[in-house]
Amino acid sequence: MIETLIQHKHQLNEGSLKNCKVLVVDDDEISAQIITHIISDFANAQYVCNSASVFTKCLELRPDLIILDVNMPIKSGVELCKELKSSIETEDIPVMFATASLDHDTQKACWEAGGDDFIIKPILAMTLMHRVKNILMNEIRMTVLKDISFRDSLTSLYNRHYLYSEVVNSLKSAKRDNEYFSIIVLDLDYFKSYNDTYGHLAGDECLRVVANALARVIHRPHDTAIRFGGEEFVIALPKTDSKGCESVGKRILKTIEALCIPHEHNPTGVVTVSAGYMTIKPTTSTTLDDIINQADLALYEAKEAGRNRLCGFSDTYR
Ligand SMILES: [Mg+2]
Repeated sequence: MIETLIQHKHQLNEGSLKNCKVLVVDDDEISAQIITHIISDFANAQYVCNSASVFTKCLELRPDLIILDVNMPIKSGVELCKELKSSIETEDIPVMFATASLDHDTQKACWEAGGDDFIIKPILAMTLMHRVKNILMNEIRMTVLKDISFRDSLTSLYNRHYLYSEVVNSLKSAKRDNEYFSIIVLDLDYFKSYNDTYGHLAGDECLRVVANALARVIHRPHDTAIRFGGEEFVIALPKTDSKGCESVGKRILKTIEALCIPHEHNPTGVVTVSAGYMTIKPTTSTTLDDIINQADLALYEAKEAGRNRLCGFSDTYR
């Protein structure tokens, strides 16, 4: 998977391709085998001959590139490409067409269906190799750049940009599937006096340690810890009801206090956080900001009630 390469971005080279997955779709098994064999030399390639099974295969394999035969029974490559490009789960996977057809109309249909490249059959192994390598290397570069743009430079947690461009998609899914969606907003107690007492460098270090602890508490793949700004963090918990959200919130409070970072102006003597949450079954008009604002009100309540605590709202019982 490309994601695993992000941790090793400094070592980006052709060897990185071996983790990339390519799905070859061709109703002619011999042709599928040949293409797969050529690509297997430098990447992880698999093939399917039945165009009807492509979508399921994509969800299972999460390929970084699909090579699609144009002429297939039941569903043509062009039709299939249109479907892949119109589904949120598969729209970003590049598609390379393989076609024996040199005519203007077929090639036009390939481009218009959203294809990213195509190669003429009979395939020249060298050209196929270079084309596939180019697409995969570009995908890796894009993924690395995207990841860098999504990270907060101080804490390495995700940033606001990630929240508003990626987490919004989880909210969309929650609306579509009629599922709960929870947000926790938290911030460090008495952080201004922490900075005033220990200095801004110590303040930065404190934020880093807290951020690392948050990342450890958030386990499930779709849960996300975000540095929202300053000493404020947002935790997004898709498919989580108020009970689950409360349990994560309490675990966060406990974990941060257990770090035992000395803070002489905090009555507990150590750094603590206050947190507010909002759990909702979102309607079509619910925005991420609506939920964050509600969680923020709960955070205000937690601060008013004496800090180092969790308050929350939920529309669960409405
Ligand atoms: Mg065919």
